[in-house]
Amino acid sequence: MAFEGLTERLQNAMKRLRGKGKVSDADLRDTMREIRLALLEADVNFDVVKDFVKTVRERAVGAKVLEGLNPAQQIVKIVDEELTKMMGETEVPLNKSPKIPTVIMMAGLQGAGKTTTVGKLANRLKTEDNARPLMIAADVYRPAAIDQLVTVGQQIDVPVFEMGTDTNPVEIVRQGLAQAQENHNDYVFIDTAGRLQIDEQLMNELADIKDLAHPDEILLVVDAMTGQNAVATAQGFNDKLDVTGVILTKLDGDTRGGAALSIRAVTGKPIKFVGEGEKMSDLDVFHPDRMASRILGMGDMLSLIEKTQKEYDEKQAQELTERIQENSFDFNDFLDQMQQIQKMGPMDQIMKMIPGMANNPAMANAQLDPKDMDHTKAVIYSMTEQERTNPDVLNPSRRRRIAAGSGRPVQEVNRMIKQFNQMKKMMNQVSKGNFSGMEGLMGQ
Ligand code: GDP
Repeated sequence: MAFEGLTERLQNAMKRLRGKGKVSDADLRDTMREIRLALLEADVNFDVVKDFVKTVRERAVGAKVLEGLNPAQQIVKIVDEELTKMMGETEVPLNKSPKIPTVIMMAGLQGAGKTTTVGKLANRLKTEDNARPLMIAADVYRPAAIDQLVTVGQQIDVPVFEMGTDTNPVEIVRQGLAQAQENHNDYVFIDTAGRLQIDEQLMNELADIKDLAHPDEILLVVDAMTGQNAVATAQGFNDKLDVTGVILTKLDGDTRGGAALSIRAVTGKPIKFVGEGEKMSDLDVFHPDRMASRILGMGDMLSLIEKTQKEYDEKQAQELTERIQENSFDFNDFLDQMQQIQKMGPMDQIMKMIPGMANNPAMANAQLDPKDMDHTKAVIYSMTEQERTNPDVLNPSRRRRIAAGSGRPVQEVNRMIKQFNQMKKMMNQVSKGNFSGMEGLMGQ
């Protein structure tokens, strides 16, 4: 999985701060050192790492203790925000020309995934915006490249303009654009030639195509698996072509993360899309904030903290925490929690926001669907007060009665009680200092 090593190291770096009421200079220094090493090991550009660590440290030192947030959470929040900034803050949409066609020139080294990505983008525009794209095959050096684009075109039902390998690429593009005008295509993709390395001849050819086509968008396709090389490639292409955006491919592989994290900072050009597989549908808009959360392995903890603080009053949270610590958390508390959580938004989204929870074996079969939550509530409503406050009395005959009362199968009732017990146990452990962000949920 992408970013696995980085995620683990960043989490470990920040775990050191868990449960600390106050972070000393030494704690912060150690943590920042670990974060620095984690990023360097993930092949993030050295200067980018240096700036990042400096900013996080300055912010951490200057940060006031936020209401209800412990220092570890504050640092996580700062790291999350700075990672997001490093990747460009917000998503950047495709440029669109006021008059048709919008011309999108694609460039990249051989094997980066250029042709595949042309198909993915054309397919996306076609299916989502009802666009009528035309794809121009301008890689005349490899006959297979033209065949590949033609095959992709057939697959997604998008026309391909090609003139074989004997015509000059600039001329192919000129004629292709003329055809697009004639046929009123609203998008034109130019699939240009790639090389194994940047060379001057290729760059000159691309510059000539750019001069002729005046593209609204020049997208550079780079392979995330190549780490710092991807960044160097991006820089090389950008110097010559002044690209308008980057598409990072193969993020479904086990890339360490360096390219995703450094490209924007090094080139100043936004990553617009990411490729996450070989299928035509495996293309996603690049959201820096979501990527940061993903890299931190904690879903969107920041929103969770904010939401929890908004929704949960301190006193209530304190009482609940005490009940968990005393191990007297019961079905009434559970119901209450579910209602609190439901107020915050979709359950699966909430669960994903809790660091460590997504991978927690105890939560693996947890019922995350809002529909399931309603079923769970129905089951609890069918319990007597005694059963709710003292779940140990739930013997088989009581469970059968509850199943009949709630209209749910008895197996489901059994499963839910089992999950409740697992959750109770886990929360009790967490409350004893086993940080996993449950504190955030409990508003502590
Ligand atoms: P080009 O030489 O730059 O045009 O590269 P291609 O489009 O031919 O892609 C090279 C290889 O990478 C092909 O086997 C593609 O299926 C594969 N590929 C492209 N994008 C992705 C991606 O996002 N994920 C994965 N796993 N493979 C990809």
